[in-house]
Amino acid sequence: MGPTENRRSLRNQERVATSAMIFDIKRYAIHDGPGIRTTVFFKGCPLACPWCHNPEGVSHEPQLMWWRRRCLACGDCSEACSEEAISFAEGDLEVDRARCTKCGECAAVCCSHALQVIGRTMTPGQVMEVLEKDRVFYEESGGGVTFSGGEPLMQQEFLHDILRTCRQHGIHTVVDTSGYTEPDTLLRVSDDVDMFLYDLKIMNDDAHKKYTGVSNESILENLRLLSEHGSEAVVRLSLIPNVNDDVGNIGELGAFVASLKNVGAVHILPYHRAGISKAKRLGESGEIFENVPPSSDILSSVENRLRGFGLEVRVGG
Ligand code: SF4
Ligand code: SF4
Repeated sequence: MGPTENRRSLRNQERVATSAMIFDIKRYAIHDGPGIRTTVFFKGCPLACPWCHNPEGVSHEPQLMWWRRRCLACGDCSEACSEEAISFAEGDLEVDRARCTKCGECAAVCCSHALQVIGRTMTPGQVMEVLEKDRVFYEESGGGVTFSGGEPLMQQEFLHDILRTCRQHGIHTVVDTSGYTEPDTLLRVSDDVDMFLYDLKIMNDDAHKKYTGVSNESILENLRLLSEHGSEAVVRLSLIPNVNDDVGNIGELGAFVASLKNVGAVHILPYHRAGISKAKRLGESGEIFENVPPSSDILSSVENRLRGFGLEVRVGG
C-alpha cells in the first residue's frame, strides 16, 4: 500500500472511528430553523445555565432517567442491577450515581419503561440513515437537519464529518450553538453550515458568569467573527424573567446584534418549565431553578424594544 492509499485508509479509519454522544433525534421539528427538520441533540455543554430546558444535554456522559409516574414499584430493576445501585425510599427510586455504570440492565427489565439510559454513541453513518428517511420532507418544506444540544461544537470532529456529508448529500444544515468555543473551531465548520442559530443570553459579563459559569467575551467575539466571515445567523434569546428581561440587557443586546452583518433576526424563546421535571428525573441534587414564563406584556415590550433597532424579531423558534 503506497502513501496515498495509506492516507486514504487512515482517513477512512478516522471516519469510521468518528462518533458522537447523542441524546435524542427529533423528527418533524418545526421550531429549529426553516421548514420541517430533524434535530440531532448532542450531549455535553460547557455552560451551566440553571434554566436549561434540556438538562440531559449538559453532561457528556450517559445518564439514567427515572419516570416516577410510570413506575409500578415492582423492584425488578433493583434485582437486575449487579452493582446494587438501586434502592427505594418512601416510594421513590434512588440511584447511587457513584455505583451506576449506565449499563442499562435495569431499563431492559422495566416493563413500564420507567427507566432509560439517556445518551448513546452514534457514527455519522447511523445519523445519516435517520436523516435520509425524511429527505422528502426537507425538499417539500425547505427544511433539513439541525444540530443542537447540549453544544454540538464540543464534538467537533463528528460535527465536521457529518456537516460535510450533509453538504455532499444536498441536505440543508443548521447549527444551534452557545458560541462558547475556540474561534478556529467555529471557522473550521462554518463553510459547511447553511445557518447558525446563535444563543445570546446576558450582555453584562459578571451576570453572565454568575448564571452560566462562563464569560460571554468569546461568545460575542465569535458571533462578530461569523458575521464578518459572511455566515448566516439568527440570534436566539431565551427570555428568563428577572434574569435577562431588563431594559438594559435588551437594549445592549439589540444594539450589538444591529451592528453585525448577516444577523438581522432575533428569535425570542420564552422560558418554560419543561427542564424542571427532566432535572428531577435525572435525580439532580441541589436546588433546581424555578421561574415563571414571561407574561405577554413582557414579551411584547421586549419584542418592540428589539424592533426599535431595525431587527426582524419574532417570538418562538
Ligand atoms: S422495574 Fe420499572 S416499574 Fe419496576 S420498580 Fe423499577 S423502574 Fe419501577
Ligand atoms: S444502569 Fe446498570 S448499574 Fe446503573 S442502576 Fe441500572 S442496572 Fe444498575
